[in-house]
This record gives sequence, C-alpha cells and structure tokens, in this order.
Amino acid sequence: MENFKIDVDADGIALVTFDVPNRSMNTLTSGVMAEIPQVVERIRTDDAIKGAVLTSGKASGFCAGADLGDMAGGMLAGGSLQEAFDAGWKLNGALRALETCGKPVAAAINGLALGGGLELTLACHYRVVGDSPKIQLGLPEIKVGLFPGGGGTQRLTRLIGVMAAMTAMSEGKSFRPAEAKGAGIVHEVVPVGTEVEAAKAWIKGGGKAQQPWDSKDFKLPGGGPYHPAGIQNFLVGNAMLRKQSYGNYPAVVNLMKAVYEGVQVPMDAALRIETRYFIKTLMTPQAQAMIRSLFLSKQELDKGAVRPAGVPKSDPKKVTVIGAGMMGAGIAYVQALAGIETVLIDQTQEAADKGKAHVEELLKKRLSRGQIDQARYDALLASVTATTDYDLIKGSDLVIEAVFENREIKADVTKRAEAQLAEGAVFGSNTSTLPITGLAEASVRPEDFIGIHFFSPVDKMMLVEIILGEKTGEAAIAKALDYVLKIKKTPIVVNDSRGFYTSRCFSTFLMEGMAMLEEGYAPALIDNVGRMTGMPRGPLEMHDDVALDLSYKIAKQTREDLGDKYVPNEGEGIVKAMVEGGRFGRKNGLGFYDYASKPKTLWPGLAELAPVTKAIDGPEEPGALSQIEELKTRLLYRQAVEVARCWEEGVIDDPREADLGAILGWGFAPWTGGPISMIDQIGLSAFVETADRLAATYGDRFKVPGLLRDMAAKGETFYGRFAPEKAAA
Ligand code: NAD
Repeated sequence: MENFKIDVDADGIALVTFDVPNRSMNTLTSGVMAEIPQVVERIRTDDAIKGAVLTSGKASGFCAGADLGDMAGGMLAGGSLQEAFDAGWKLNGALRALETCGKPVAAAINGLALGGGLELTLACHYRVVGDSPKIQLGLPEIKVGLFPGGGGTQRLTRLIGVMAAMTAMSEGKSFRPAEAKGAGIVHEVVPVGTEVEAAKAWIKGGGKAQQPWDSKDFKLPGGGPYHPAGIQNFLVGNAMLRKQSYGNYPAVVNLMKAVYEGVQVPMDAALRIETRYFIKTLMTPQAQAMIRSLFLSKQELDKGAVRPAGVPKSDPKKVTVIGAGMMGAGIAYVQALAGIETVLIDQTQEAADKGKAHVEELLKKRLSRGQIDQARYDALLASVTATTDYDLIKGSDLVIEAVFENREIKADVTKRAEAQLAEGAVFGSNTSTLPITGLAEASVRPEDFIGIHFFSPVDKMMLVEIILGEKTGEAAIAKALDYVLKIKKTPIVVNDSRGFYTSRCFSTFLMEGMAMLEEGYAPALIDNVGRMTGMPRGPLEMHDDVALDLSYKIAKQTREDLGDKYVPNEGEGIVKAMVEGGRFGRKNGLGFYDYASKPKTLWPGLAELAPVTKAIDGPEEPGALSQIEELKTRLLYRQAVEVARCWEEGVIDDPREADLGAILGWGFAPWTGGPISMIDQIGLSAFVETADRLAATYGDRFKVPGLLRDMAAKGETFYGRFAPEKAAA
C-alpha cells in the first residue's frame, strides 16, 4: 500500500499510519479509497493483530476529507446508476467492515479531521483527540452542495441524536476538541503527542470491539421518528431547514431524508440509504456547480492559477497600509497574521493608534480562543507600527492605500508614498469605486499601480479583487497576487470598469429591488423574495448594509463623471429623500428598516415615499406563485446579465473568477455555482429568450450583450467556449 503503513507492536496492536505520499495533507483520493478495504482486511484476518489504532503521519492534520474532483469524477465515470452506487458504496462498505471486524479499533486523531476524515474515525470504536486549538472536527460537505457520504449521516446521528447531528451537518459546523468531547463525538481529549499512547491504552484496557448501534439495547439519543419527542426533531427540523435554504439545495433535503429513513433501520441498510441519496445529490446540477466553483476553482485560484507565469515568485516581507480606518486596520491585521511586517500610517498619531487598537482587539480574540499563544500575540502586535511618518515606508515591497474615497486625497497620498518606494515596489489602491486608470494618473510609475480591493469586514471576507489599470504591468499583477496568496485570501483579477466587477454587478441586485419598490411591491415581499433566490439577504436589507448615503454619493459622482450619458438609477429619488432625511442605512440605525428594536422593523415612513400598490397577500391569491417566480427571476437575471456585459467588455474573462468572485464577493446565490454556471445550466438559448422577454416588459437593463446571442446561436456554454486554460503556476 502507498498511503497506509501498518506496524504491529509486541502487544499485537497494529498502528495504521495514514500518510499520502507527496502531499502536505491527507485527503481521500481514489488511491486511498481503494486501499482502505485492504487495511480493513488485514486487521480482520491477521491473527497477530489483536486491535488497531488509526493515526496520521502528517504534521498538518489527520485528514481534510475527500478529494472532491477525484471522487465526483470517479463515482460518475461509469455512467450507469448501478456503477455510481457501487463506486459510492466502496467506502461505506469498507468502513462498515471495519467496525464489525471483531477487533477493537481506535482513532488517534492528531490533527484536523473534516468530512471523510472524520467519517473514517466515526467507524472506529473509540476516538482520542489531541488537545490543540488547531484541531477541528466536522462534516462540512454541505458547503459544496453535498452531505456526508461515508457513514457520517448515520453514525453522527446515532452518537449525538437527530437534532444535534442535523444542525452540525446542515451548517457544516466544526468542533474544537473540548466541544467535540462535550457533544459526545469523541471519547477522550489528551495532550498533543500522546494520542496514540492513549488509544493503545484503551485497547489494552479491554476496549470493546462493538459500536453502540450494534448492541441489542441501542436507543437513538433523543428518539427516532416514532418517538413523541423524536418526531418533533423532524417536524421542526424540516421547517428550519426550509427557512435556511428555501428549497434551493437538494443536498439539504436529501440529507434530511437519509437521516429520517436511516435511523429507522439497522446500520447496514441505513448506510445503503445514505449512499443512494448521496449519489442522487452528486448528480444534481447544483452539487456539480458548487463543487466546481467552491472547491475546484477555489483551489486553483488559491494556488495562483491566474498569475502571470513568466514573472519570478516574490515574497512580500514589509507592506505599508495608508489610512488606518475600518479597512486599513483590517488589512493590517490580516497581513500581520501572515507574517508581514506592517507600517500603518494615518494623518494623526491618534488615528493611526486607533487603527492599531483594532488590530489588537482582533488579535486578543485569537488569543482568548487559544488560536495563538501569548508569545505569538506579542510578536504579531509588535510587527505593526502605527505612525504618521512616511519615511517608514522605505523598504516596503508594497503600499496599499485605504484613505477616504476622494481622488485628490488619493493622488496626494500616491505621490508622497511613491517618493519613498524602491524601484519595482507596487502601489495598490483599495478604492471601491474610482477607476484605477484615472487614479494611476497621479503615479509616476503607472505600470506598478494596481487596484487591490478588499471586502468588509476584511478579517472575514475571503475574496480580494485585483483591478488592472490600462498601464498596469505583468510584474505588478504577479506581485499583487503573491501578496494576496500570502495572506491566504482568494484572488480574482479583473479589468478596470466603473465599480470593477463585484460592486458593479452587486449593485444591480440592489437596483432591481429599488425598481420593485417603485413599481409598488411591498418592501417585505421584495426582501423575502430576495432571500428566496438564495442571496444572503434581500435587496433593501443589503442596501441598508452598504449604506444609503454611500449609494447616493456614488450616484452623484457618476452623474458628474458621465454628464449627459448618465442614466439615473432605479429609485434614486427614494434614496435621495431618505438620505436628506438623515436615513443612512444600518450604520446610523435608520434605513429602509429601523434598527433600534431587535429584530429590525420596516420604517413606516417608507409607505409614503413608495406606496404599496402591488402587495401579494398570500400564496392562495390567484397567480401569486407565478408573480413571486417572476420577481425571483428578475433579481437573478439582472445580475447575470450584468456579469455577461462585464464579460463582453473584457472586465472579466475566466469563468472560475466570475463565478467564485460573485459568490465570495457579494453572496451571489451559492446553489447556482455562480452567475456563469447559472447561465450555462439554464442554457444560452433559454437564458436569452427569458432575458428578451424581461427586457420587453421592464426595460433595457435586461438587454443581453451580443456575445450571448452568438453563443446561443452556436449552442455554446461559457465553460465550454472559455474553458480555463491558465494553468496553475
Ligand atoms: P474610513 O473612513 O474608516 O478610513 C479612512 C482612513 O483614512 C481614516 O482613518 C482617515 O483618517 C485616513 N486618511 C484620510 N486621509 C488621509 C491621508 N491623507 N493620509 C493618511 N490617512 C488618511 O474608510 P474605510 O471604510 O476604511 O475606506 C477606506 C477606503 O477603502 C476607501 O477608498 C473605500 O472606498 C475603500 N473600501 C471601503 C469598503 C467598505 O466597506 N468600507 C470596502 C472596500 C473598499
């Protein structure tokens, strides 16, 4: 075997070390899946083996889960349902054989165990985990449109009950060691490095070779569907899942079915039920699009797939951030955490110190959670220098400005910073709206000037949008990408455009909501429909989050810039009246909603600015459902049409970046796999036909670019015609 090593000690305990060669982390590749049955067979049949301990040979973790690309491809390769089932059953069958092999088996979990990694350990009779803050245990499959297919839905449920297991699996929640012990997922938490010893001690102490569910008197914790308390879990659970997912995710429904049906039968049958629903889910377009965007494309972009290959790799060691406000302080924190020496500049020492205080606050949180120790905390904090002195920029590989959104101030900062920068160092702007080519006019070396657009809050948002000005050079692109990869964010590279890619397309979601408001739809209906599409919140709520005064300012600036060519936004008058009345959105507690009470309530005054004439009172109203479908279609199509326009204008040219940028950047409905996957799935002809109908009914904002018509005529798809060929560097 390549991936497992077996050493039998003097007591007859086999130490099975899981160690995939040439990889920093163990994953369940097809090779590993093929070897698991051999490991089980050896334990079962070798008389010298009295019991076994399963552990990992990697310092980085126990196992990060299935290699999804490999797995999905492998399971669906045959084409027939039976072949898919047989492939899916392989792991389940092997793990069932492990837990019924008649010898005690313990897992010594010496690193993170996620997805299939945790499932491997759930098939062991005993689980010992190292007491490290770096270790997480969980079943996160739902995040890529799947659910656990290696026995997790059945074993976790039988260990901790339907309610707790469904919550953990439907949210993809991960547990720290102590939490996992408290929840009943593991048996013992031991000092790091003693996991194997503790696991062996359990076997030597007479550890039982039987799972609780294989005992005659096993009772499902909390009760099953025919138990008065147990049935509540399914009734309430179904309603909760519906509320979270609006029926957009087949994985969520199939997970519930697998659990409901599985807990009513013995384990062998239960696992077959799980495999059936797993394969059924894997075959849905939603799961396939999510796996592609959120797993495969993300992995590729995180490895620098779009980095210009010819430029030697750089390693930014010192980076200056100018502007220590909300964004600047967040940027300082994430780069300090990545080991970058950070200079944080503001106009006054007080403002710079305030920014550093925010870094300190975030670091304290990590310290209190045990994610870093005191020595590392001290070193990280000391690596950030708060100052007003531009001389300290000297020696920086990169400067990022995050000062006020004002051209003159940004131009001034650019000149002063560039005076300190060595040749080849890059200047990045975190502007959210000002075109990069224009800002670069203030630069004496526009080839080293680039947009590095972070999202708020910086410590949580995973995407960074890199924007190229007309003169930005390849070296600057490569260096900006090296920086983004070093701080462990996902980069996309786009061309200059008003609002770039993400803000431009996201704003159409807000604007379509405004159009509906102007047409007389009830605000609550608009936001509910927004959520039903799979967006994280409705368009009015998100408009409040972004800030109405910002929306107003951007419109004003655009009007000034474009003059006669300016086309007013939908509902611009409503926003203007609200801002003039002091309603700026969530930030001052007054927007479309009032935020003083919790939960927030709709602002009654909105009824005067936008009287409701088209309320849909309930699903019983004739045509209500089709009206709701129409509103959903408008919200999704409006965004997708804008994405297609960006494509035609050359703002974006890689389907992976377009899709992942949309999901991570503005929360575009993840179940679609992103707007480009959505267009491909609907099919170009059908998409164009619907968009044409919408354009005829509601206006030119739904007019598709010629590119889509051309693709529709030729029967093409985006992922077909523009297959990503930029190989990973
Ligand atoms: P902010 O008002 O919180 O911070 C701006 C900081 O810049 C302030 O501390 C201010 O004192 C400082 N500053 C102003 N002029 C300066 C100068 N000449 N020299 C040094 N420091 C100066 O603003 P923010 O929300 O952090 O936004 C900063 C930039 O990031 C803007 O360009 C904004 O468009 C962009 N941005 C904001 C968001 C967001 O969600 N807030 C998201 C992405 C990008």
